Amino acid sequence: MKLPKLSLQLKIFIGLILGIVYGLLAIYFDISEFTHDWIKPWGTIFIRLLKLIAIPLIFVSLVQGIASMTNISQLSRLGYKTLALYLTTTVIAISVGLFAVGLIKPAQSFPTDRREQLQEMYQDQIGDVITDASVKDKSPLQVLVDIVPENIIGASANNRNMLQVIFFAFLFGISVVMVGREKAASVINFFDATNHVLILMVQLIMKYAPYGVFALLGSMLVELAGDSVSSTLDLLGALGLYALTVMVGLLFLALVVYPLAARFIAKKKYGEFLRAILPAQLVAFTTSSSVATLPVTMAQCENELKLRPSVVSFVLPIGATVNMDGTSLYQAVAAVFIANIFGFDLTFLQQLTIVLTATLASIGSAGVPSAGVIMLVIVLESIGVPAAGVALILAVDRPLDMFRTVINVTGDCLVCAIVDRTENEKFDEGNL
Ligand code: ASP
Repeated sequence: MKLPKLSLQLKIFIGLILGIVYGLLAIYFDISEFTHDWIKPWGTIFIRLLKLIAIPLIFVSLVQGIASMTNISQLSRLGYKTLALYLTTTVIAISVGLFAVGLIKPAQSFPTDRREQLQEMYQDQIGDVITDASVKDKSPLQVLVDIVPENIIGASANNRNMLQVIFFAFLFGISVVMVGREKAASVINFFDATNHVLILMVQLIMKYAPYGVFALLGSMLVELAGDSVSSTLDLLGALGLYALTVMVGLLFLALVVYPLAARFIAKKKYGEFLRAILPAQLVAFTTSSSVATLPVTMAQCENELKLRPSVVSFVLPIGATVNMDGTSLYQAVAAVFIANIFGFDLTFLQQLTIVLTATLASIGSAGVPSAGVIMLVIVLESIGVPAAGVALILAVDRPLDMFRTVINVTGDCLVCAIVDRTENEKFDEGNL
């Protein structure tokens, strides 16, 4: 009997469910060492494969996307539109976060004795987080300075320097357009062909996705439970309402804001939209990294959502780096939660400061696991709350990271669909 062929979506989903089942069994039968030695490496290999392809894909697809534009004015229209949409969705996400945290007030039910306990537990990690985020003694223009790489090979060596790679790709792509199609023909052909090859590499890597997702989730559950399942559950309980607030905010984006934008602006049925990008969401959930997920996000938007390749290769690499709706919402909730626990009652002006700094902080967060919590330090400092307060929320950060990364990726796809639709109209009008 021939078994029916399962779609990639379904296979990844099965991998995810089996990973959870395995993780729970491994905790129950206490086989954490076996899981660490023999299961986790398969997950690590999957993340490495995705990261391996991320920098070449971002570079090649951006150059190819930009070079496919006919002139600089088309490019700048696309650029402004993309950035404006990314900023708008981020500000909406932060407002939803502030509203949710104001409504649920998770700090009120937080047991005060837990504050010292949590701060002690995360004492060691907090030093690293604060040093990583440290902006003291630097010019306010440092953010801009950091975008310009000194050396492109050096910048490409670290997935955290994605903005620098994007900067170089922009400069290169714009120069190709300015040189003109005729003179730059062989460069354009080279990037076109390389792009095809990279896309095929992504498809090959995705065949491994169900197994990678299984191994990642299974081993992560075991690690989360740690040595003592009961004390972990106890801690999660104290932070439960805070985690719930973040989740309510994220769900509001996913179930109210995005469907409306999909229906009325992108003119897409939200159910179909979600079905098309589901593999990307599942990979985002398990890897907690929008950059690692980027190859899958691009493949789904192009092949399943049927968005134009030139729009996909322009909008998504930028989005994976700068547009993080889930992260910015989470930063707003976390900042208010920590501030309230420290006894601060935030004024309207401080809330506005959160909108501004969380926007910048989410742009500055690299699309890698836990980047959001590092940049949260900046949001806290801007409203005068001790950065060490980050220790209070670290215990539940990993699971929340998984959910906010799903929203980050979903937001990118939505903006891509909107840009594609509006650019299509321009095509129809013959404006290009
Ligand atoms: N992990 C998130 C991402 O890659 C960033 C964060 O919120 O930590 O999109």
